[in-house]
Amino acid sequence: MRIYLPGKVSRRLIFQFLLAALIPMSGMAWYVYHQVSTMLLDSAYDQLRADCKSFGMSLIETLEVRANELKQLARDGSDHVPTAKPGFNAISVQTNRKLSAAQRAQIDRGMTMLLLTAGRPVELFARSAASGDVLAGQVDVATLWTNDSAPERYCILDASFAPLYCTSGQFPLDRRFLYETLGDRNGATVRWSPAGEDLLVALWRPKFLPTFDSPGFVVMQVTPRADALLKLQDFRYLFPFIFLLALSVAAGLAIGQIRRQMKPLDLLTKVTSRLAAGDLTARVDLEGNDEFTELAQTFNDMAVNLQYRFHMLALLSELDHDIINGSRIEHVANEVLGSIRKAIPCDGAGLLVRGGGDGYHLLTSAPDEMVPCSRTATAKLDLNTLRLKQPVSVLEPHVLPSEFLGRLSDGTPPRCLFAFPIITDDRLQQVLVVAFAQPPQSADNIIQGGRSLADRLGIALSNLAREGKLYHQAHHDSLTDLPNRVLLHDRCEQAIIRARHNQTAAALILIDLDNFKQVNDTLGHASGDQLLSRFAARLKLHLRQGDTLARLGGDEFVILLQDLARGEEYEILDPLLRELSIALSAPITVNEHQINTPASMGVALYPENAEHFGTLLQMADAAMYKSKREHPGGFHFYSSDLNRQSKARFDLTQELRDAVKRDELILYYQPKVDARSRQIVGAEALVRWNSPARGLVPPATFVHLLDEMGLGVWLGEWVLDRVCAQMRVWQDDALISIPVSINMSPAQVEHTPVVERIKASLERYQLDASRLEIEILEATAVNDSREVRETLLALGAEGIRVALDDFGTGYSSLVYLTRIPAHVLKLDQAFIQGLPADPRQQEIVKHIIALAKSLSYSVVAEGVEEEAQLSLLVALGCDHIQGYLIGRPVPPEEFADRWLRQAAPGPAGLLEARACQRPANEPPSAVALSGT
Ligand code: C2E
Ligand code: MG
Ligand code: MG
Repeated sequence: MRIYLPGKVSRRLIFQFLLAALIPMSGMAWYVYHQVSTMLLDSAYDQLRADCKSFGMSLIETLEVRANELKQLARDGSDHVPTAKPGFNAISVQTNRKLSAAQRAQIDRGMTMLLLTAGRPVELFARSAASGDVLAGQVDVATLWTNDSAPERYCILDASFAPLYCTSGQFPLDRRFLYETLGDRNGATVRWSPAGEDLLVALWRPKFLPTFDSPGFVVMQVTPRADALLKLQDFRYLFPFIFLLALSVAAGLAIGQIRRQMKPLDLLTKVTSRLAAGDLTARVDLEGNDEFTELAQTFNDMAVNLQYRFHMLALLSELDHDIINGSRIEHVANEVLGSIRKAIPCDGAGLLVRGGGDGYHLLTSAPDEMVPCSRTATAKLDLNTLRLKQPVSVLEPHVLPSEFLGRLSDGTPPRCLFAFPIITDDRLQQVLVVAFAQPPQSADNIIQGGRSLADRLGIALSNLAREGKLYHQAHHDSLTDLPNRVLLHDRCEQAIIRARHNQTAAALILIDLDNFKQVNDTLGHASGDQLLSRFAARLKLHLRQGDTLARLGGDEFVILLQDLARGEEYEILDPLLRELSIALSAPITVNEHQINTPASMGVALYPENAEHFGTLLQMADAAMYKSKREHPGGFHFYSSDLNRQSKARFDLTQELRDAVKRDELILYYQPKVDARSRQIVGAEALVRWNSPARGLVPPATFVHLLDEMGLGVWLGEWVLDRVCAQMRVWQDDALISIPVSINMSPAQVEHTPVVERIKASLERYQLDASRLEIEILEATAVNDSREVRETLLALGAEGIRVALDDFGTGYSSLVYLTRIPAHVLKLDQAFIQGLPADPRQQEIVKHIIALAKSLSYSVVAEGVEEEAQLSLLVALGCDHIQGYLIGRPVPPEEFADRWLRQAAPGPAGLLEARACQRPANEPPSAVALSGT
């Protein structure tokens, strides 16, 4: 048997046990040892004494035999006394022997007398009754003092302890010691060590020998002590072995017992270690009904509890992770129902979810089912009747429909239900139901765990609601509630995937309201918003099921059409687009205003034009712009030609951005002269892009792009600064001072503090306000916005003249001229080009000039290239001329050399130039068409 002492406790127990056993055992052993030793010693002494006595008695018997033989001889008469007899050395008649009176009396009484004296023969005396003679027998000591029962070593001593006879070897007899040892007793035993020999001596004497009237003798028996104590010796040798054997047996029993007791403890320790190492399935398997079994049972209960707790924590952490990651509620519910049996000691669970109407679904999952929540049951249920309470309600099973009860547990119907209501936004949303085949013994952990799970589900539900709201906000336009660009992108990509799979086509129609900006500007943003909403509603009317209408922002809408038959896209789309065109051109009523906002549309197709949303949208945009340019209110399908234009436009935009950074823009100046005298009266600053790659790029190519890039205002301010700086240089060089006009974009006039900026520049370069003239497009000027009007008035008030550029191209009513606070009217070159050949054109120009003059405008004719044109314009009363006939736009140095040097057109030109300036703050006055 292997000695199994695994732990410190075992060793300590063994040690204590042995100590407890050793002390009494040792005491007992010592006591036994002592007692047995004493007993054995006493017994050895007693034995020796008995032997000695027995031997002495045998001697007395021999003496009596001899005495009787002598007495017999005495009776026989002295005549027949033999001289020798066995046992006697000699027998004689003692006639002359002197005896004491006592001896004589003894003999006379018929008794035998014995003489025992050391150094003399042993003699017996008896009196013959017949003769009265005294018969003396000398006893043969060889037969007297020895017999069969004689010990090995002994001495016969006389009464004075003198030796009568001794066995071989001499004893250095200490008579005094012997005398004192025996005293007046008749027997004694003593330890004696003469000459280093360890001996035991037994002494014995007959108390009195009345037959012999003799003081008697002393038998001294000697034996080596070791021989006498042989048993004691054996005992002493044997005893330790016996003691050790007893001790070993005791220890063995103790170890066996302790081992038996410690084994469950060891098992418990091992299982606890496994539990501590995370093996939650570790259990102690012990049989019996002792405390260890109870401990094992308690431990197993604890392990089961821990296992549930651990699974609960793991589940909660998993749910938290899901919630943080924004997992769907279905996923969270799956997780709860799939793992709840591991986290709560229940027999089943389900989630009551509101279905349609007053029906409820019960989502459940069987244990270890791979697809949780795969099992659902539906039944009518009024949750109000359950009167659910927070944190939990304990329900009788019958309150739930039988369809649900069957699902809630496998086999045995539940006898107890715990219902955890899930309430968000003060509404009972769902109920987590936990089923038990038997009412649970301890409900605390179950309630705590179930509540935590229900709370997680509640959070997931709230998140879902919040996310839904956020999702809607992030994917819909706040004004029209239509899908926004993000959602459109998503739907378009999905439509493309489906179209690819189904071999169908999809179309993106970009719709942009024409003139929406004017509505915003004239009627205000609120009206603009209303218009957009109604426009969206109108668009919706023409959508099929499955089509998407989105608002990209501003006045841009997109329709996504999917599942179009491939090859028939144009046949399907053309009638729809025509229908839309007509529908959208009908006026919309906003705040009692009838507004005409036709919309231009551009269409791009998948897969014909592109395969991705971004490209499709760009193409639809390009097509829409083409439509806007070429026939506003109509529609246009994207073509690859448009694609090239877009690409070129894109490249130009990129280059232009770099050009601005690299300061590649420059200003050219074109003279304006008096129509009659041809003296210089001013100049127009015109921007150029001095591109290293493209050469000198005209403004028509890039100014509108700068506007689109949001750099229109920057350009205006840059020109203002450059022009003022140039005038300062010219003035410092004492050149002829002329007013210079600069072109301002509509955005700059409408949205920036133009007046302040101009004043600041004039002040910075120390220039008079009359040196600047601002050209704005007719379309900007006729815009009825308050800001524009106030700006123009303020410019006039500051002495800065305002010219209506490209007049006649804006299709605006001439009536506007009466309202606009401007000073100069620049007739667009389109009117001049037909002159003088086109009489109708002549008529128009004549009337415009006449009207302008009547309204005190100064009139400038642009694009005059021929003498005939000039002559006619002079005849029609035009004040000033600008055109290639007079001079092309040139760099400032060239312009100065040619027009501003004193030597050039002469002082008359200068005077004329000054004379033709009407102070801006003066109302326009009639400019006389004076002859040359
Ligand atoms: P605009 O303000 O009407 O300028 C007059 C345009 O007519 C100039 O073209 C000029 O070169 C051109 N021109 C003048 N005389 C004749 C002629 O006899 N025949 C022909 N065919 N053309 C003539 P340019 O310089 O190409 O400018 C075009 C337009 O670009 C300008 O029209 C103006 O609207 C715009 N622009 C030019 N510079 C600026 C600027 O600094 N800012 C802004 N916002 N626009 C500018
Ligand atoms: Mg101009
Ligand atoms: Mg012009």
